[in-house]
Amino acid sequence: MSKVFFKAITLDSGTEKVASAAKELLGKVIECENIALEKEIPIKVHFGEKGNITFIKSECYNGLIDFLEERKIKTSFIETNVLYKSKRRLKETHLEVAKEHGFTRIPITIADGDHGENYSEIEINKKHFKTCKIGKDFSKYNQFIVTSHFKGHIMAGFGGAIKQLAMGFGSRGGKLAMHLNIKPKIKESACTKCGACKENCPANAITITEKKSFIDPEKCIGCAACTAVCEHNAVKTFGLKSIFGALGNPFYQRIAEYAFAAQKGKKNIYINFALNITPRCDCDGSEMKPITKDIGIFASIDPVAIDQACYDLVKKSGKKLRGQSILKYAEKIELGSRNYKLTSI
Ligand code: SF4
Ligand code: SF4
Repeated sequence: MSKVFFKAITLDSGTEKVASAAKELLGKVIECENIALEKEIPIKVHFGEKGNITFIKSECYNGLIDFLEERKIKTSFIETNVLYKSKRRLKETHLEVAKEHGFTRIPITIADGDHGENYSEIEINKKHFKTCKIGKDFSKYNQFIVTSHFKGHIMAGFGGAIKQLAMGFGSRGGKLAMHLNIKPKIKESACTKCGACKENCPANAITITEKKSFIDPEKCIGCAACTAVCEHNAVKTFGLKSIFGALGNPFYQRIAEYAFAAQKGKKNIYINFALNITPRCDCDGSEMKPITKDIGIFASIDPVAIDQACYDLVKKSGKKLRGQSILKYAEKIELGSRNYKLTSI
């Protein structure tokens, strides 16, 4: 049975108290699980999409940073570029958003490079993926504090530690593969022949001529770099086929398999903030109202147990979220256990 530690708190008590509760929980999980700490431990975060106001604020991480700094452990924020059209799809503009949102206390690493082109292939040999594309810089470290904002998610039902591991650690190509294992195509009518995609394609799969712009699917490795650099929205990955392909059990299973790849060989500590529980995730650039009251902060070394505990307590508060299938499949592939013992501190 996995251990999950919990502290009830609300955002009304202020970000300082939230930060100090997270610090206390981190100390508790390290002590109770007898975790050996590495000399350098990055903190995996989500900086929040521009326009979103309910992401976990930068001040809430101060307790975790204090904890590490007091022990002379080097730390940084670590994130990957997103797949969709946003300032967060390119490293340069992604860093601007992070700064605007106050993530300035420690250095930032964008783990999959300037536009998602840098990744390591992690072998897992599961049902949907033999290998997964995980942001390259994650391979430099053995341990992360993986923080997640627990809330609803349109496609996955809910987003917590499992989704953070999968979508948060996967490179752009990995994110594309989770949504649907397809290769991008160029929409001829939108293409201005600027050549930016061709220049940034690591597989030399793109041909741009006066008459035709196309991607050779045989050469394309699905890294999705071209979708990031095209400023004319001419590289397409989403159509009706991809929308239907991104729903249902295979999508849940692909997420769990990517989470398995991201966690493989790491000694992670998971912290879930079940605060500002919105219907959609922090990639949504709109202002949202919470769907239920603040629950508190959770800590564990098991990403499945911590998500199950959050899911159960949100349900107890009166809001049943979708997404149970992710938890079931994640347990089946041995990412973690749904069986947990909750200890309140
Ligand atoms: S980056 Fe976009 S507009 Fe430029 S050549 Fe490639 S597909 Fe065409
Ligand atoms: S064509 Fe394929 S390999 Fe080349 S940048 Fe686009 S997704 Fe990557």
